[in-house]
Amino acid sequence: MAKSVPTKLARSAKIGYVIDYPQLDFNKLYETFHAPISDLDCGKKCAPHNSHGIPFCCDICHAIPAGYDSEWKYLQKHTDLWHLWDKDDCKSQNGTQEVTIDDLPENMVLLACEGVQHCQRHYRAISCRQFPFFPYVTADFRFIGMAYDWEFENQCWVISHLDQVSDIYRQEFIQTFDEIFNLWPEEMESYAIKSEEMRAAFIQKRYRIPILHRNGKNYLLSPRNENIRIASAINFRVFNPYRNEK
Ligand code: SF4
Ligand code: SF4
Repeated sequence: MAKSVPTKLARSAKIGYVIDYPQLDFNKLYETFHAPISDLDCGKKCAPHNSHGIPFCCDICHAIPAGYDSEWKYLQKHTDLWHLWDKDDCKSQNGTQEVTIDDLPENMVLLACEGVQHCQRHYRAISCRQFPFFPYVTADFRFIGMAYDWEFENQCWVISHLDQVSDIYRQEFIQTFDEIFNLWPEEMESYAIKSEEMRAAFIQKRYRIPILHRNGKNYLLSPRNENIRIASAINFRVFNPYRNEK
């Protein structure tokens, strides 16, 4: 039986059990998945809306990175940037740390870094690089492109500005997950479940799902039947607190 990691805090949102653990080459994955999401520094756009004054995805009180066991081993060998997450990592009174460790897949750990002032770009985890996106897998099991983590609609500036996502970032994202799924088909199953969760959530909201497709175009996807229609990302929905910005 597969089960889901709560997406609110465990931000890479991996799901499911794994039968085999492939040897992923993190040095290579990190080198080939390195492009920034956009030409501008999106952290400067979202940080002013965070009471802690830092980007939401780098604020342990808002988003806890999850890493593969093998990734944690790799990181331990190469950097002192990371440690295993502890509930006391969030020092804020207002921080929310309700994470259900029991729901974390057994091949993953929750991590915390030394903080945004000490970030080492080369040693960012895959979950840092993919945020706020995950690979969208259709009901008939095709990885068609990128969808965003809807739990962060009211925090992440990028989600309100999908037109700003660079082509190179999209290419690197697709290439990285093609490689991971090729070596590790069970991981694709995990994202198929997450995609199914997104369809259920968007049926309830009565919204279509924006897809940054692997073919370079953008689409709106019906969560009921997965029909897609081409769309301009500049017209995708914008969320608070970014609705009235100039
Ligand atoms: S990815 Fe989103 S949350 Fe992270 S720095 Fe950029 S705008 Fe902020
Ligand atoms: S490693 Fe860097 S990008 Fe990742 S959470 Fe820490 S500060 Fe943010």
